[in-house]
Amino acid sequence: MPYMLNNKLKDLQPYDPIAGNYSIRLDANESFLELPMELLEKAQYSMADVAFNRYPDPYATELCESFGAYYGVDPALVTAGNGSDEWLFIIATSFLMRGDKLLTVEPDFSMYRFYGSLAEAESVVYKKKEDLSIDVDDLIVQVRESGAKVVLFSNPCNPTSLGLRREEVRKLITSVSALVVLDEAYMDFWDQSLLGEVAQYDNLIILRTCSKAFGMAAIRLGFAVANPTLTRTLRAVKSPYNVNAITQKMGALVMRSPELLHRALDEIILSRKALQAGLKDLETRYPEQMYVYDSCTNFVLVRMPRAKEIFEGLLSKGIAVRFMGDTLRITAGSEEENAQLLKNLESLVSSSTNP
Ligand SMILES: *Cc1c(COP(=O)(O)O)cnc(C)c1O
Repeated sequence: MPYMLNNKLKDLQPYDPIAGNYSIRLDANESFLELPMELLEKAQYSMADVAFNRYPDPYATELCESFGAYYGVDPALVTAGNGSDEWLFIIATSFLMRGDKLLTVEPDFSMYRFYGSLAEAESVVYKKKEDLSIDVDDLIVQVRESGAKVVLFSNPCNPTSLGLRREEVRKLITSVSALVVLDEAYMDFWDQSLLGEVAQYDNLIILRTCSKAFGMAAIRLGFAVANPTLTRTLRAVKSPYNVNAITQKMGALVMRSPELLHRALDEIILSRKALQAGLKDLETRYPEQMYVYDSCTNFVLVRMPRAKEIFEGLLSKGIAVRFMGDTLRITAGSEEENAQLLKNLESLVSSSTNP
């Protein structure tokens, strides 16, 4: 008998980001800013302090202290990971037993259900309303009635760019006995984080990442923040040396430069506002062609009846955005990138025959 892959593996395909040479990349929600020269210079010096022949600190102590200082949370509640992707994998495969229910919302980050399927969890999906908002009371009913063990969603949401306010997330956490995993990947761009009160809940894990607002997708660094009991479990279940020494150094260095981070953040938010205003202006002129959602992140979601055709039109001009069904998700770029995007979008939208 030939070797046979099991059912959960046999149809899997490797992750396939947009391949090819696009001069403008607005498809992955990365920061368009490079790290300031000042930090890069410091980084070179601190590389000399890395003990390359030794395993790294398994608890990334210095790094977690820098995270704690930046956000004003107790570092004892913080555990570093190899991107928040690693946390999603660890949490799904260890907090869920086979057949347990994982509740996700739709639309949301597509990786959640993938990790649930590796855990052989059963998927339960809350469908967002027509306007892509979440009715927390409905969500709570669904969590309770389904008996879900874990509820996992992003806030603010990728791809909708809409967010739930603190009171609503609190209500969810305190109304269910499921573990709530709150992915705050984009919360640096908004002000409704629950980081400051994470210790008060016995069923909350908050995920944060350095891949978006901090402009360090390359170093693969994310954090899980939770009460001491959950933190002990997270530390016990992760692989011992999950965050390499170079990433630990670099992350700590950047988080100890809050002025530089805040300046970058302001710049990204300005860019997103400009992009959104430009898109809204197009919407006013071509209302049958597009609808622009509100945004509290570094990207904007646009509903377009001709999304696929317009996505391909942009690609042919060297501009990559994210195509998702009848919407395009567009990351805020530099002034020049936004201008190119808007110019090309306008020419595609105005050259339309009706959908
Ligand atoms: C980008 C993103 C992440 C970040 O993942 P990393 O592994 O830390 O790069 C996590 N969650 C959501 C919703 C994201 O959009």
